Order: sequence, then structure tokens, then C-alpha cells
Amino acid sequence: MREESKDLFAPILHPDTESPNHAPAKAHETHAPMETHKHARTRQRILASVNKDPDSGCWVWRRQISNTGYGRITLSDGDGTYMESSHRASFTAFVGPIPEAGVIRQACGNRLCVNPDHLELVADRV
Ligand SMILES: [Zn+2]
Repeated sequence: MREESKDLFAPILHPDTESPNHAPAKAHETHAPMETHKHARTRQRILASVNKDPDSGCWVWRRQISNTGYGRITLSDGDGTYMESSHRASFTAFVGPIPEAGVIRQACGNRLCVNPDHLELVADRV
């Protein structure tokens, strides 16, 4: 009798179900805060890369400028780093994701301005 009851308890002492229950919950938890953190860091970098013009309200980019006259910033994702126009990076970090066909333009007309209040999303085909 004693040996029988010992065998019955054996599976309960080794709960195989524990690890599959853990993994998905953990992965889900870490995703959103990482995105938020990434944007927060980009916002900080942008704010550290502009001169705010008190008259126009423009945030004038003062770092790397591409040959098209727009500011440039190096961003990183999971795969590595890539170049992005600073006004597009600003829109993404401060406002939200840009649709694939979306174009960001400066309502104030200053190509170096990255003030999210001056940026507007226009469709690629107007
Ligand atoms: Zn502006």
C-alpha cells in the first residue's frame, strides 16, 4: 500500500505544465514597455539635437543634414541601425507611426524643423 501511494504522488511532484504557462506571459509583458522606452529615448535625442526658435516655435535640427536639406538621425531597431529623416523620426516618436505611403511635411516650411506641432502627415498621392 505504501509503495502504491508514493507512485500516485510522483506526477504531482513534477509539474511539467509550469514552464509552458510561464513563457508566453513573460514575452507579452516585456514588449510594450520596450517600445515606449525606445520612443522616449528618441524623443530625448531629438530634443538634445535642436535649437528651439522662440519666434517661429520651430525646433531647428542642428546635427547631421542630408543632401536633400533635411535633418538626419541614426536610429536602431532589433536588427541594427539605420538612417531616418529627423522630422520623420520626430513624428514617429512624438505623434505615432507613419503609414507606409505617408509623407511628413513641415507646415511651417522649414525643412530642418522637427517640432511635432509643425509636422503634418500627408498622403503620398495628393
Ligand atoms: Zn517649424
